[in-house]
Amino acid sequence: MDYLVAVLVGLGLAEVATLITTVYLHRVLSHKAIWLHPAVTMFMRVATWMLTSISPREWVAVHRKHHNFSDVEGDPHSPHIEGYWQIMIGNVYYYRREANNDNTLQKYAADLPHDRLDRALFSRGALGFSLTGLLLVLLMGIGPGLAAVATLAVVYLLLNAAINGAGHTVGTKNFENDATNLKILALFTFGEGLHNNHHARPAAPKLSAFRGEFDPAWPFIRLLAALRLAKVLSKVDEGWENHRRRIVSEVNPTSPAAASAED
Ligand SMILES: [Zn+2]
Ligand SMILES: [Zn+2]
Repeated sequence: MDYLVAVLVGLGLAEVATLITTVYLHRVLSHKAIWLHPAVTMFMRVATWMLTSISPREWVAVHRKHHNFSDVEGDPHSPHIEGYWQIMIGNVYYYRREANNDNTLQKYAADLPHDRLDRALFSRGALGFSLTGLLLVLLMGIGPGLAAVATLAVVYLLLNAAINGAGHTVGTKNFENDATNLKILALFTFGEGLHNNHHARPAAPKLSAFRGEFDPAWPFIRLLAALRLAKVLSKVDEGWENHRRRIVSEVNPTSPAAASAED
């Protein structure tokens, strides 16, 4: 029973970590689509440090480079270049390989603040994650505590790997880019599974685009905005007109080509 609770706690924390990743690391820092109140920002910084051990500058730099070179030479983690299972299993290796590249950091994350707290604390990711492990062990006992922290680590890594691996390989497409939409994955990754939509308009604060798609982070962002703890900076539909919707343009019965074919 203790271990069942431990796994559930680990799953819950992995979901919290995934929500913070998509809202803070991805939409706020990487694409500047959302502004957060300083108190929320501080909460996100601490939670990122304790639940993911990620350095925000590194994550942002690797992710922006991924947008610049999606599935061509230079992409830090392309399943088409490295191999599908290499990314699905070893995504963290490819992430670290790029994150250790100082040139990538300088080129893609020079605009990010790096204050004293970052230098003293948040850049020491292993310390933050170890602290979480220690707290879980103190609260739940050694065995269940370690099971909870292991569940958090494995589930978080696998969800991120699925976005970068499956999210560039299997699923459906609304837009003509190399990424894919996986609605089921989007439910567990707070919208990140709608990766085809995201590559079509990276600055959009909301990752769902059409009926039948759901971005679970969007109600959370709207709630923060209603509480004046966040502001949406880019328009929800910004950039759509620049990308042809592949499926509709091919089958839309009201398009001029289809209409003339019926005549
Ligand atoms: Zn991608
Ligand atoms: Zn992005």
